[in-house]
Amino acid sequence: MSEKQNPFAMAQAQLDKTAEILELDPATHAFLRKPMRELRVTIPVRMDDGSIKIFDGFRVQYNDALGPTKGGIRWHPQETINTVRALAAWMTWKCAIVDIPYGGGKGGIIVNPKELSMGEQERLARGYIRSIGEFIGPERDIPAPDVYTTPQIMAWMMDEFSKLRGYNVPGVITGKPVRVGGSLGRNDATARGGMYVLREAAKVKGIDLSKATVAVQGFGNAGQYAHELTTKLFGSKVVAISDSRGGIYNPNGLDFEACAKYKKETGSVIGFPGSKEISNEDLLELNVDVLVPAALEEALTADNAGNVKAKLILELANGPTTPEADAIFHKNGNLVLPDFLANAGGVTVSYFEWVQNVSGYYWTLDEVYERLDKKMTKAFQDFYETYQAYKVDPRTAAYLVSVKRVVEAMKLRGWV
Ligand code: GLU
Repeated sequence: MSEKQNPFAMAQAQLDKTAEILELDPATHAFLRKPMRELRVTIPVRMDDGSIKIFDGFRVQYNDALGPTKGGIRWHPQETINTVRALAAWMTWKCAIVDIPYGGGKGGIIVNPKELSMGEQERLARGYIRSIGEFIGPERDIPAPDVYTTPQIMAWMMDEFSKLRGYNVPGVITGKPVRVGGSLGRNDATARGGMYVLREAAKVKGIDLSKATVAVQGFGNAGQYAHELTTKLFGSKVVAISDSRGGIYNPNGLDFEACAKYKKETGSVIGFPGSKEISNEDLLELNVDVLVPAALEEALTADNAGNVKAKLILELANGPTTPEADAIFHKNGNLVLPDFLANAGGVTVSYFEWVQNVSGYYWTLDEVYERLDKKMTKAFQDFYETYQAYKVDPRTAAYLVSVKRVVEAMKLRGWV
């Protein structure tokens, strides 16, 4: 196994390649290689046993040329400032490719939420918001859920921010439960947006999704809904799924409802009746038409990319593919649907949520789906046009679309 790379170095390498093709001037390139602002905070939390535990948190605002920064908050035991920086950079390109008026940001806390009670989670969520309260706001920086953060956590965070201000500020955070200002359709938005991209990609590649086999790595918010929606929307057959403990395989297909129920009851998908246990690594190399990495960064590397058989790789995770693996996929003809395009449905519906919050008028589920479909389809078309025109690998094509948009805004503002 190769060493895990610094994800921010990976994000910078991707940008450097794009800057070279676009012949960006050195100042613009240098500006885009670093976050504009970042904050590190220390959060004391009263634990249930009466002791106080200290947590480290971050919030990075990468670039706000296109609008207030936007991006989720991750709670992860291996969180680092460099992961948050990389994710904030990717948020910048993500908001740009779907053409929503936001820059990119990201937050993180070093914590294993599985070890915290609900009360401890609530106090950590509120403590984090008290620490970063001056740094965020509906016109400044708008957090959302990400790995291991939930709508309930967003509700506590919005409530804490509202208390700090002394009035309700629903637009400070998205991914909230519907009762406190969330949008209909936000729950499965990341996967659903990915489905629209997959549909468009299958069209241009001449792949019939109703006959396609699918493997999904990761059973979080993105992966679970990808399992459900590839089956429901297209009739594809999901033959493998996994969670952090490992994966399961059944060539005849895995029923979504039954798997979700089993995972809820047992805490893992492993042992699901009728399935064969496989490792997360084996899942990635299965002979399927569509591979959906929906877990964490760097799942696909120089070590395994050459063994991947899927024709389409729908990246619902952020950063699942290293630059070395990208080069291998490009050479071998596996079409990667790059993360910040494929998983932009989440932030797109977050944008819809924010629009509804600031206007005080709420949409129907059909309106959300229709607008999401339009945004994702247009983003795919912009991406694919550039992919064909420049004859570069797909990730670079997506970067070209986004970087051009951000640079245009920076120039119009007179920054560079
Ligand atoms: N955390 C999600 C992402 O990586 C959603 C961000 C948002 O909704 O602001 O795209």
